[in-house]
Order: sequence, then structure tokens, then C-alpha cells
Amino acid sequence: MAKIKMEKPIVEIDGDEMTRVIWAGIKDYLIKPFVELNTEYYDLSLENRDKTDDQVTIDAALKIKEHKVAVKCATITPNAQRVEEYDLKKMWKSPNGTIRAILDGTVFRKPIIVQGIEPFVRTWKKPITIARHAYGDIYKDVELVADTAGVAKLTYVSNKGGIKEEVVHEFKDKGILMAMHNLDSSIESFARSCFNYALDSKEDLWFGTKDTISKKYDHHFKDVFNDIFKKEYKEKFNNAGIEYFYTLIDDIVARIIRSEGGMIWACKNYDGDVMSDMVASAFGSLAMMTSVLVSPDGYFEYEAAHGTVTKHYYQHQKGETTSTNSMATIFAWSGALKKRGQLDNNEELIRFAENLEKASIATIEAGYMTKDLGQMSALENIVVLDTFAFLQKVKETYEENFL
Ligand code: NAP
Ligand code: MG
Repeated sequence: MAKIKMEKPIVEIDGDEMTRVIWAGIKDYLIKPFVELNTEYYDLSLENRDKTDDQVTIDAALKIKEHKVAVKCATITPNAQRVEEYDLKKMWKSPNGTIRAILDGTVFRKPIIVQGIEPFVRTWKKPITIARHAYGDIYKDVELVADTAGVAKLTYVSNKGGIKEEVVHEFKDKGILMAMHNLDSSIESFARSCFNYALDSKEDLWFGTKDTISKKYDHHFKDVFNDIFKKEYKEKFNNAGIEYFYTLIDDIVARIIRSEGGMIWACKNYDGDVMSDMVASAFGSLAMMTSVLVSPDGYFEYEAAHGTVTKHYYQHQKGETTSTNSMATIFAWSGALKKRGQLDNNEELIRFAENLEKASIATIEAGYMTKDLGQMSALENIVVLDTFAFLQKVKETYEENFL
């Protein structure tokens, strides 16, 4: 069989620890035998970030703007313990944070559904995608402790002159207070990313905030979404046969629990942080959660939602056998290859990516899986495989069904 060609490259961003081991495995077992892989490679291992003073992270992010599609391995975000472990020059920032700041986007997280790994919510049949706004609100807040009685005021001094002021509270005794902000430009790009993603995946988009209580702040999110929808997306949604609606976040929570799934749920920053953990856990496992950063300018960065699986890596280093689940990283690769195929009208590449996903799911549904899934699967006759035996089994399933 001739290998599938890729005219244009994707940006390949390698990472750390067990996911770096899996990364090479996925390429060797599942991609290179079938595709003439065309990537521009960036090594974001912590060693190389330290060596390049983190310039490699910036270079990789800028390269995504050129090629539009990237696949990223999990990376260590260093803390004090890692600074010591890797003898770092400095406690480098989160690579995901750096890349997000350069691309300006929204993070979409979607569980991989397989028969035999049942969601804890009985009605859920299809994946629920959380679209999390990744700027502002309490993540950029200012907080104070009022340690005596006093008056708290919120003041805005316009550069054009003029002052707006509101009394927050007249404290009779001790208390606490907080101010937060967001930007129209960021909310607008959040809205467009959500609308574009919904059109791309042909799923309904739901958005909820607490606008009945927050009559200016949350209400503004609602208005921005509604305005952009009416002006730019209403017709496209009609043509695609999908729906957008806004309702209170409490109402969304109630509806989501009773739904079959199959929608995109847009969340403000904090709501998305909390709800994506709830949805991932309710679907079964972080190792079965994919994640993609979509920028308003049409750049796509695919990754797994989990980290570098440090404990498994230490076992691997000691020469012990590991059983690490590679599904989310396989789907990061297939997602990026599929997107490359769609942008380049490369039908063969799209089909390969889709079939690789089908083969991975079929492997688990046939009972072959890693330890984490083995512990919670309802299937009988489960065969728990080690990290590489699972990749080999997926390869065999692909070859049997799709070659
Ligand atoms: P983690 O790597 O996601 O692992 C937490 C635990 O979840 C593991 O110890 C393992 O449990 C289980 N797990 C996660 N992924 C798995 C998989 N693919 N297969 C099987 N089990 C899996 O999170 P962490 O330990 O908090 O973080 C480790 C490093 O990852 C940190 O340095 C952090 O900075 C980094 N991180 C990176 C990203 C990213 O790049 N996107 C995201 C999060 C964290 P058992 O040990 O019980 O088997
Ligand atoms: Mg969280």
C-alpha cells in the first residue's frame, strides 16, 4: 500500500514524561506505517524549554499561525519541585498559557465514548463538549480584605475624562471584597470560536450565565453572543440544521443532566473550569477526554486533556511495565490530521484519521484496553494490555478493518 501524502505540514509539539513516550509510540505504530507524515517539529520538553529560555514555546505558537494546525503532547508546568528535579534556570510559565495568549482562543473538551465504559449519568448517549472561555473573570481578579469597618467603592476613570462610581458595600465590620473584569474583544472571539466549532461539528450550541443576578456583567456576555449570532451566524446555523440558544446556567445544568448529550455547552471561565471536571468525571476518565484550542482566526491546536502521567513515567524509567491509556493522545493526532485533510481537501487523510479513531474505539469495545479502563469497564472477558501492546492491538484492528 502506498502511504497517504500530506501536502502541507502540521506543527508537532512534543512534550514530557510518559506522554512523550506514548507520543513516539503513536507515530511509530499508528501513523508512520500509513502516512508520509509531514510535520514541523518543536521539542517542548522541559529540558529544551530551559535550554532555549522558553523561546521554543513562542516559536511553536507562532508557527501555528503559519500552518493553522498543531498537535501538542502534554508538558510539565514547572513548580518548585520540578525546578529542583530538572535543575532549571527559572520556573518557566505554563506552555499552554503561553500558546493560548499568542493564539487567543477557546478550549473545547470532548469525551471519547466507547461501549462498555458507561457514563455515570444514565441518559447520556453522546459526548458533551465544554467550551471554556479562557480569559478574565476571577482568574484576573483583584481582592481585598476589609479588616475594619469602612466603605468599598468601584471606580472607573475614563481616559477621555469622566468618572463612574458605585458603592459596593458599607462595611459595619470586617469582610472581604473582589473586583473582576473582561474585555469585549475577548468575549467576541469566545463567541465566534463557539459558533465556528458548532458549525464544524454540526452540534447545537448552548450558552448560560447568571444574567438575572448579574444584570450588567453576565448580561453583557449574553448580549455579545446574541448580537454576533444574529449578524453573522443565524443563517449558517439554519443551513446546517443546528440551533443556538441562551438560557440561565441553572437551567442548562438541569437540562444537561436529563439530555442525551451531543451538544456544545459554552461556559464562562470559572463555570468551564468546574463543569469540565464534572463532565469528564461523569463520563468516566480524564484519559478519555480530548481537548482542542480553537482561535478566532481559524487556528487549531489538538491535545489530550490529561497531564504527563508522571507516576507511570517513573515506573517506565525503572524498566517496569506500564499500562498508560493513549486514547486521548491518539485522538489529538487524528484530530489534527483530520483538520489538515479538511483544510487541504485531502480525502484520503480525512478517511485515515476517522478510521484510526474507529479502530481505537473498536479495540476497546472488543475487550482490549489499558488498566485504567479495565478497572471500570462493564464488559466481560477484558484483556488488560500494557502501553505498547495496546498500540499494537489498535494497529492490528486498523489493518484488519481498513487496509
Ligand atoms: P496527570 O498526568 O493527568 O495524571 C494524574 C493521574 O491520572 C495519573 O497518576 C493516573 O492515575 C491518571 N491518568 C492520567 N492520564 C492517564 C492516562 N493517559 N492513562 C492512565 N492513567 C492516567 O496529572 P498530574 O499528575 O497532576 O500532572 C503531571 C504533570 O502533568 C504535571 O507536571 C503537570 O504540570 C502536567 N500537566 C500538563 C498538562 C498539559 O500539558 N495539558 C495538563 C495537566 C497536567 P494513576 O497514577 O492512579 O494510574
Ligand atoms: Mg479545573
